[in-house]
Order: sequence, then C-alpha cells, then structure tokens
Amino acid sequence: MQFIDLQAQYQHLKSKIDKRIADVLNHGKYIMGPEVQELEQALADYVGVKHVITCANGTDALTLALMVFDIKKGDAVFCPTFTFFATAEVISFSNATPVFVDSNEQTFNICPENLEKQIQKVINEGKLKPKAIIAVDLFGLPANYPEIEAIAKKYDLKLIEDAAQGFGGSITDSQGIAKKAGSFGDIATTSFFPAKPLGCYGDGGAVFTNSDEYAELLRSYRVHGKGSDKYDNVRIGMNSRLDTIQAAILLEKLTEFPQELINRNKAATNYENELANLYKTPKVPTGYESSWAQYTLLSDNREQVMAEYKAQGIPTVIYYATCMHQQSVYAGLGYQEGDFPVAEKLCKQVFSLPMHPYL
Ligand SMILES: *Cc1c(COP(=O)(O)O)cnc(C)c1O
Repeated sequence: MQFIDLQAQYQHLKSKIDKRIADVLNHGKYIMGPEVQELEQALADYVGVKHVITCANGTDALTLALMVFDIKKGDAVFCPTFTFFATAEVISFSNATPVFVDSNEQTFNICPENLEKQIQKVINEGKLKPKAIIAVDLFGLPANYPEIEAIAKKYDLKLIEDAAQGFGGSITDSQGIAKKAGSFGDIATTSFFPAKPLGCYGDGGAVFTNSDEYAELLRSYRVHGKGSDKYDNVRIGMNSRLDTIQAAILLEKLTEFPQELINRNKAATNYENELANLYKTPKVPTGYESSWAQYTLLSDNREQVMAEYKAQGIPTVIYYATCMHQQSVYAGLGYQEGDFPVAEKLCKQVFSLPMHPYL
C-alpha cells in the first residue's frame, strides 16, 4: 500500500494526460504556451476569483505575494508555528521577521485568539512593524477566515491564504454562500507539488487574487519585473513560470478533481467510522469542507501505533514533528519550549495515514 498513489491516478487518466503532453510537444511552446492561460482561466472559474497567476512552485507563489505587499526588513509577518517550513521561510527570505502563532487543537490551524495576542505583543514592543498574516489551510482544512479576516482588518494587515494543502476545500457561511480555498484574504497561493491535492508531475504553483492591481504586479514579478515591453524591466522580479507541460497535465487533473474530492471525503468518512474509538480523529467544523491533503490523527503512543501499521504494510508519516519556533535556523528569534503549548503537543502526537482519491 502506498501513502499517496500517484500511479493509480495516472493509470486512470493516462490517455487524456498523454494526449495533452503530446499536444505540447507538437506545438513546441514550452514556456507560457496556450495551456498556461487555459489553466489560469480554469482555475479562476473553479475557485471563483478574478485572476490566477501560475508560477514555478508554491514557495515562489508565497514569495510573489510578499513582494506585492512590499514586505521587507523591519516588518513582522504572522504565521502558524505548526506548518510546513516554506510558510515561514518566505517571510525570512524577504528579510522580514516571522512572528509565530499557536494552533487550534481541534482544527490544527492558526488560533485567532493567539494571533491577536501576538499582534498586540509586537505593537507593544514597538520594534517591528506588523504588516501581514499568512494563514495556512493545514492538511486541507481552510483556516478560520471569518475570524482571521476580522483581525486583519482591525489591525490593518494584509492577509495571505497559503492554500498549498487546502485547494479544493471551502467554507459556507450562515447565508449558505460557499467560498473555496484560494479565494480568502487579499492574495491566496497554492502548490502543485505532486503530493498536494491538485498536483502536477513536477513543481508548480499559483497565486489567486481579485485585485487588478495585484494581478498586474504578480504578472510582472513572475517574469523578471517586466514592463509592458518584455525587454523593459521596471522592477526587480524573479523567473517563476509554470511549464506549459505541467499546465497541460493540470488541465486534465483539474477536470477529474471534483470526483477525486468526493473520493477523498469517502475515504475520510471510512477512516472516521473505523478509527474514532481508537484515536483522536480529525474533525471538520460545521460549514467547512476539507480537501483532505492529509488524514492526520493524534495518539499519545504514536511510535508504537506507527510500528503496528508498518507491520501490516500500511505506511504512516509524521506531519510535522518540529514547529517553526523550534527550527534550528530560528533559534536566534528567542522562542522557548512552552511558548506554543498546543502546537508543541501536536508535534508530539500527530501521524498521518494514507490518503488519496484511489484508496
Ligand atoms: C507544500 C507547501 C508549500 C510549498 O509548496 P512547494 O510547491 O513545495 O514550494 C507551502 N506551504 C505549505 C503549507 C505547503 O504544504
């Protein structure tokens, strides 16, 4: 048994994906070919946002978002301490300071109460300028955007949704209006790394926004800060495009994606029915839908439990064993064990079971 069975998905879609790849090889427009624009439109329609700008990977997508907000040295950017490293890394890469936030024990996502505490702490210390929040849709579940958006507004902070794992998830409000992951905050980002809910066959990413101004900046930053003329560079940017072949593959995978989400939810329901009396299983709050990037359980006795699964040929993985504030590279930021009790406990107890649409 595989943890994520990409081969089963390829066999299911083989003839369509092979044809799409062959089309690219035949037209030869390997960089920014027609499939890239076709995919950006399809992603915009699916998520329900005005602009999608694809790029080279999910880390670059976050970096591009921070460039749009001119995040720099002296700025504080708030993010969960329980996340994948890239969320914090991009903040440091832009020379700003990541300020970590504890997690909600039920959802594993950033805790709004602790977020506000951390913002007030930075304001009171007066050393850094609070500029932005990166919320993460961890394991596929959208973060608590109703509360996080209110906090961002109250403190005049930009909000970035890191939907690398959340693509496909949604939140439906009390009026019955559903918003998909990728549509929250000022800018949202995702990753098409093969193991993500919507993955390609290499690296890929995308940035989502409803702002015309941000979209224009993102299209410039993605290609060396180009102006209206490709060889007139009006700002310092990056080289971060999505390959045409990856866009072609994603177009076929996106067509199948709604059915895959149904399959993932069925697998999650089966797990819940079988395992809820053995471990603490993941709970999806009312109105929320998860894309089930991971199926993550809690156990006080994780090493033994994982060994038992392994003995039966069932792979398990720990996402994540180390919080951001405990990473060696951030030792200089002055955090201590006990600063984020919920996240630290999660790091000691979480383990994930196989999860994919062909389980
Ligand atoms: C995977 C991931 C990223 C980075 O995506 P890449 O495409 O690997 O660069 C960023 N944030 C989170 C939460 C992720 O899971």
